[in-house]
Amino acid sequence: MIANSSLLEKYSKPGPRYTSYPTAPHFAETFGNAEWLDELQSTQNTGRDLSLYCHIPFCDTLCYYCGCNMVATRNYNRATQYLGYLESEIDRIAAVTSPERAVRQLHWGGGTPTFLHPDDIRRLFSHLSSRFHIAADAEIGCEMDPRELTREHVRALVESGFNRLSLGVQDLDARVQETVNRVQPEAMIREVNGWMRELGVKSINMDLMVGLPEQSVASFSHTLESVIDMAPDRLAIFSYAHVPWMKKNQKLIPENRLPDLQTRIELQQLILQRLTEAGYVYIGMDHYARPDDELVLAQRNRTLYRNFQGYTTHKNCDIYAFGVSAISQTDQVYVQNAKHLPTWQQRVSEGLAIERGLRISTEDRLRRDAILRIMCDLELDLDALSADWSIDAPSHFATALAELQPMQEDGLVELTASRIQVTETGRLFLRNIAMCFDAYLQDSTVETPRYSRTI
Ligand code: SF4
Repeated sequence: MIANSSLLEKYSKPGPRYTSYPTAPHFAETFGNAEWLDELQSTQNTGRDLSLYCHIPFCDTLCYYCGCNMVATRNYNRATQYLGYLESEIDRIAAVTSPERAVRQLHWGGGTPTFLHPDDIRRLFSHLSSRFHIAADAEIGCEMDPRELTREHVRALVESGFNRLSLGVQDLDARVQETVNRVQPEAMIREVNGWMRELGVKSINMDLMVGLPEQSVASFSHTLESVIDMAPDRLAIFSYAHVPWMKKNQKLIPENRLPDLQTRIELQQLILQRLTEAGYVYIGMDHYARPDDELVLAQRNRTLYRNFQGYTTHKNCDIYAFGVSAISQTDQVYVQNAKHLPTWQQRVSEGLAIERGLRISTEDRLRRDAILRIMCDLELDLDALSADWSIDAPSHFATALAELQPMQEDGLVELTASRIQVTETGRLFLRNIAMCFDAYLQDSTVETPRYSRTI
């Protein structure tokens, strides 16, 4: 399945990634600490398990393409101080959490979680496990930056119980690395990969990025071949979103060195072709995995889910997220912590640090269900949707179905009276297909946030 260039060009437009619906720009400042505390207290007996997230914002240096909430520093005292606040925040949430609730998923992201020294990795993990009941078979993951990483970091993670490690590779080409200020030679990546294998990490993910300056089909082919040779279990290949009006550091990216649309399209085609040939299954969006990976099995069994951490096998979990800018969710509420580090610290010293949030409506939940089924199952059963939500789905979603007609003509979906089926080609356009169900994009009274491009 290789989509042709004209389709990729036609559907390359700004759109959400749907790690939530409604998306974060629709959260409101009227939903704060008091409302979140009420929600936490009233949802302890829902039978839902937990997914915990910790955000560690620090990085040694700034990658020019960075779109994350991060702080570049060489001052480790800042991390030590941060950990103190993080532990207070964890304690406050743990105090209102029923001890019976099992943590099925735990993830550290950033920034760079491995900015923490190995002793502090152990300290934070043992703090979390002393406050929450982490299930024996929990999926415990951490993002890692190979630069500044030591074998001791990996050992601290593995001995703490981390079983899914994700390495930021992005691109192995020296020119690309220099242009984006992230120099990490291939030998360094191979060494870290060797430590992970030697220490028995169950699942290794590598993140790559396309659309970076100086990237060409030839240079990225080399990166892909080397990465395939390192045999990660999963690959996430993100498209660089160049939004210098939102991310000031991206002004350091030389725009005239960015690949043009045609090259970006060729890169997408290359990735799909090479990874499929190498035996990886394309799950959707940016994610590939080996055929026996849990994500692939979950997609086959219709139990795949999508949340702020991307695709997951853990459906029906409430997410409790700690740290600056972190986003939590229950079935009906989303909240985000303060995004500015000093503000987050100040608020945590007084209580919780919620800056904005949203209690979603029944219509939002119905639309989220439709969007998630498309993004995860690659199909939407309209009869099941009608039964689950006591609606007549074809008439409720008449506008969406009309928008899908041209996509059917382009071969992205197959429509029948009771089903929307994403085709092999359509997998590359999941965001575009899901956008047909997004009421906020269709409401002209709501200002549309500036999203990254779908291709
Ligand atoms: S390591 Fe990640 S979070 Fe840190 S600057 Fe680079 S891209 Fe941003």
